[in-house]
Amino acid sequence: MANAEHVKVAIIGSGPAGYTAALYTARADLKPVLFMGMQPGGQLTTTTEVENFPGFEHGIQGPDLMDVMKRQAERFGTTVIPAPVEKVDFSKRPFKVFANGKEYLAEAIIISTGASARYLGLPSEQTFQGRGVSACATCDGPFFRDRVVVVVGGGDSAMEEANHLSKFAKKVYIVHRRDEFRASKIMVKRALSNPKIEVVWNGLPVEVLGDDMGVTGVRIKDVKTGEIRELACDGFFLAIGHTPNTELFKGQLKTDEKGYLLTAPDSTKTSLEGVFACGDVQDHVYRQAVTAAGSGCMAALEAERWLEAQEG
Ligand code: NAP
Repeated sequence: MANAEHVKVAIIGSGPAGYTAALYTARADLKPVLFMGMQPGGQLTTTTEVENFPGFEHGIQGPDLMDVMKRQAERFGTTVIPAPVEKVDFSKRPFKVFANGKEYLAEAIIISTGASARYLGLPSEQTFQGRGVSACATCDGPFFRDRVVVVVGGGDSAMEEANHLSKFAKKVYIVHRRDEFRASKIMVKRALSNPKIEVVWNGLPVEVLGDDMGVTGVRIKDVKTGEIRELACDGFFLAIGHTPNTELFKGQLKTDEKGYLLTAPDSTKTSLEGVFACGDVQDHVYRQAVTAAGSGCMAALEAERWLEAQEG
C-alpha cells in the first residue's frame, strides 16, 4: 500500500492494559500508535464506580479513569487512533495492521483487545437486543426507571449490575443457575441487603418474552425441579462473563480452547516472536483493571527489550 506508515510499536486495544503499555513504550521513546478498537476505553467505560483501583481512595468512575489513562499515555507521545483494526497480517515482519483505510507496518505488536460480554444464546435474546435485552447496566440502566429488571449471573458483575440497576428500577431480580453465588463476599452482602433486589436461585432463563414494545418477561427453568415459571420484567441484563476478543488473530496466534491468547509463563510473549499480549485477552483468571494494567507494563518492557535485541 502506498500510504503505509512505519511504526515501532502498534498497540491494539484501549483498556487499562493497552494504555499502560502505551504509557511505558511512549516513555521509552518508542512512539507507540494505539488503536482504540470497537469499545474505546474498554470494559471500564461500561462500569460506574471503580473502588478497587489503587490510588483512588474514594473511587473513580470507570470512564473517567480511562480518560485519565488515555491522556497520560498521550502526554508522553502516544498516537491514539480512534478506529478499530480491521485486519492484521503477522506472517512476516514488519507486521501489518490495517485500520482506518490505512496500512501500518509495525516492528512489534502489543495486543490488548480485552474480552466482550457473553450472551446465553437464546434466539429471543437476539430478538429483543436493544429493546430490553442488554449486557451493559451502566449504559442502559437509566431507561428502566421505576421498572422491573432481571440480571442473569452470580459473579461480581451480576452483583454490581444489580446494585446499579436498583438505583433506577423499582425491582431487580438476580437469576442465578445455582444456589450460591461465586461473587466476592462484600459484593454478595451488598446485593442481598438491598431491599429492591430478590434472588431467583437455581434459575436458568430459557426464553425472553416480549411484544412490539420490547421485553415483557422471562421464562425461567428451575434446574433442580425442571419447573418453568414466568417472571414479568421490562429489562433483561446479562452478566454471565466474557469472551476474549481474538477473532482478528485467528490462525495467526495460538489460543487456548476458550480463545484466550496463550502467553509464555510469567511473560506476555505470544506464540509469535515480536507479538505480545496483555490484559483480559490473555487472562481469564484475575481479570482486574489493575492486573491488566500490570500486564500492560510487562508487555511494554518485553517489547522494548525485544526491539533492542533486534537492533543488536
Ligand atoms: P464470572 O465471575 O465468570 O461469573 C459469571 C457468572 O455467570 C457465574 O455466576 C456463572 O454461573 C454465570 N454463568 C456463566 N455462563 C452462564 C450461562 N450460560 N447461563 C447462566 N449463567 C451463566 O464473571 P463476572 O461476574 O463478569 O466477573 C469476571 C471477573 O471480573 C471476576 O474475576 C470478577 O471478580 C471481576 N469483577 C470484579 C468487579 C469488582 O471487583 N468491582 C466487578 C465485576 C467483575 P456459575 O457461578 O454457576 O458458574
